[in-house]
Amino acid sequence: MKKEAIYQVAVIGAGASGLAAAVRCAQVQRETGQKVSVLVLEGSAKPGRKLLATGNGKCNLTNLSAVQAGYHGDVHPAAAVLQACPPARVRAWFRTLGLLTKADEAGRVYPCNEQASAVLDCLCAALDDLGGTLCCGAAVTRICRENDSFALFCGEEQVFHANRVILAGGGLASPKLGCGSDAAKLAVSLGHTVTPRFPALVRLISPEIPAALKGVRVKTEVSLLDSGKPLAQAAGEAIFGAGSLSGICVMQVSRLAAQRGKSGGKLTLSMDLLPDLREKALVDWLYTLTSAHPAWPAARLLAGVLPTKLGPEVLRRCRVTRTCGELNRRDLAALAHAVKHFTLKIEGTGNWDDAQVTAGGVPLGELNIPAMASRRCPGLFITGELVNLDGDCGGFNLQWAWATGLSAGEAAARVFKKGKGKR
Ligand SMILES: Cc1cc2nc3c(=O)[nH]c(=O)nc-3n(C[C@H](O)[C@H](O)[C@H](O)COP(=O)(O)OP(=O)(O)OC[C@H]3O[C@@H](n4cnc5c(N)ncnc54)[C@H](O)[C@@H]3O)c2cc1C
Repeated sequence: MKKEAIYQVAVIGAGASGLAAAVRCAQVQRETGQKVSVLVLEGSAKPGRKLLATGNGKCNLTNLSAVQAGYHGDVHPAAAVLQACPPARVRAWFRTLGLLTKADEAGRVYPCNEQASAVLDCLCAALDDLGGTLCCGAAVTRICRENDSFALFCGEEQVFHANRVILAGGGLASPKLGCGSDAAKLAVSLGHTVTPRFPALVRLISPEIPAALKGVRVKTEVSLLDSGKPLAQAAGEAIFGAGSLSGICVMQVSRLAAQRGKSGGKLTLSMDLLPDLREKALVDWLYTLTSAHPAWPAARLLAGVLPTKLGPEVLRRCRVTRTCGELNRRDLAALAHAVKHFTLKIEGTGNWDDAQVTAGGVPLGELNIPAMASRRCPGLFITGELVNLDGDCGGFNLQWAWATGLSAGEAAARVFKKGKGKR
């Protein structure tokens, strides 16, 4: 068996939180006069594959309002981490790495060049400049405590040794963008627990959506209901698939659907397909049209209002097939109601392959906050999606990855302050 050198800090996972942790750790080691000794082990052949896919390749890297609201799971302890490392600090830190960012009107922050690759490149270049080591194709399969240090096994052939370990292996969402290993098992092997995990920010499944609607996009306001009782609302674009619905506003309410799905809730999604027009105004408009054009087929009524293909679906649901002149005001009111309350039975959510984030994970109560240091295994730090916190769409999840990565990297390095010994 090949025995490698002992590193001060080993980071498992070269994703968002792992790379941030490694760079920050190396920075602090250098600032405090230590020898830079950081090793990053990544199971995939390349680092940051998920990071490259974020924000449709543009990387929505944080959100100006990502301090406490917009998160789920162990929200209370998480607030201390987010306050210690708020979006402004994340942006300022990336600036020191050469990355300029910009915010849109909703507070979503992107790199100025709108390329996720710019974020990954500046992290990898900084790690390299600082003298950190990145080792890809090295999936850690086992970790053993050895007195004051750790042995990290990549299969049984390769072993690395480190005094501190930052576990940044991510969650279960979109497994194709990771190395296929469940890093939570490593946390469990070191004494941690993991709360039940389920896909969040994921599409909703509804058998009531016909294949003909596939690809249709609509600006909408959605309301998720359980036995008619509203659970969550969101606004934005929805995208129809065959038997499913996605888009930012749909994903925002999907977490609750995934939770309720397990408890057998009777879920429906009500969509307002014309949020900029009140229901009464729509009835009046339809009345004006039918009065002016009694010979028109009813199919033309919604053609100028809704996306093509969606109008015919609303008419089909209302069983309207006649000409405009044959429709009375009651028919028109029913039509307008169907547009403003387009309701779908929800049978569940997509699976891990579709999900952007993992809900559930290592409880934050098992960590010292904000350092993300394990209370159960001295010398271990846990970051990012691996812990029991997930955020809304809009940069909240990457903000969590940066905040936990920076905090853990800094704390893991500070332990080795010059003259202070190992621990
Ligand atoms: C398609 C998509 C788009 C998204 N867009 C956004 C967005 O725009 N904004 C936003 O805020 N969030 C977004 N997210 C969520 C965000 O990407 C994640 O929350 C974030 O990347 C989590 O960071 P992490 O460091 O915890 O894990 P990851 O970034 O997933 O990194 C974990 C790394 O660890 C490696 N690894 C795992 N196990 C091991 C092991 N045993 N040994 C070695 N390596 C291991 C994995 O291969 C992976 O590279 C998106 C997610 C997806 C899937």
